[in-house]
Amino acid sequence: MQIESIYNKMTNSKREVVELLKDLGIKWSYEHPVFVWGENKRPRVWAPDFYLIPFGIYLEVCGSANFDYDYRRKIFDNNGFRVIFLHLYTEPYKWTYHLIRYLQLFTNSRYNKLSEILRKENIIDIWNKEDFCCYNRKFKKEELKDDCKDCKYGKSCKGGCLAVSTSMTGKMHCDPFCLYQIEKQI
Ligand code: SF4
Repeated sequence: MQIESIYNKMTNSKREVVELLKDLGIKWSYEHPVFVWGENKRPRVWAPDFYLIPFGIYLEVCGSANFDYDYRRKIFDNNGFRVIFLHLYTEPYKWTYHLIRYLQLFTNSRYNKLSEILRKENIIDIWNKEDFCCYNRKFKKEELKDDCKDCKYGKSCKGGCLAVSTSMTGKMHCDPFCLYQIEKQI
């Protein structure tokens, strides 16, 4: 029901992208917000059109042939976000090819990197490294921030979802979408 209403509010271009993602069986979320530092270190929250969950990649559907998207591309690059810009207006017959080709290249490069790492080191040794996932393993309650600081679940919860926390606040261990906090306010 909710997906249906989001879909109805989308532009035709975005719906075309949704149809392709459906055909490819790729799970996505819509306008997932990300925290970025703009020029002059100005903090911003932007919402690229689609987040491709299995790839960790964002899509921007460029809605106008005349708009200059270079600035957005530069800011995303500077902040380490991988974003594909789809130009449905200027490349009506090519954008699907570009997207599929990019995802293929990305998948191959991820696979190659992983194979290279595993050729050098055994997965069990990697897992047992002292610094592996150190943000979790070496976590201390004092690292909790904002509303999580005094939370009774802080030690085990570690401040909720790290991805949401960093993308929404720029800080780790203070997930602002915590259900426990929302419940307390009701
Ligand atoms: S995310 Fe919620 S439950 Fe977890 S530590 Fe923060 S306030 Fe507590």
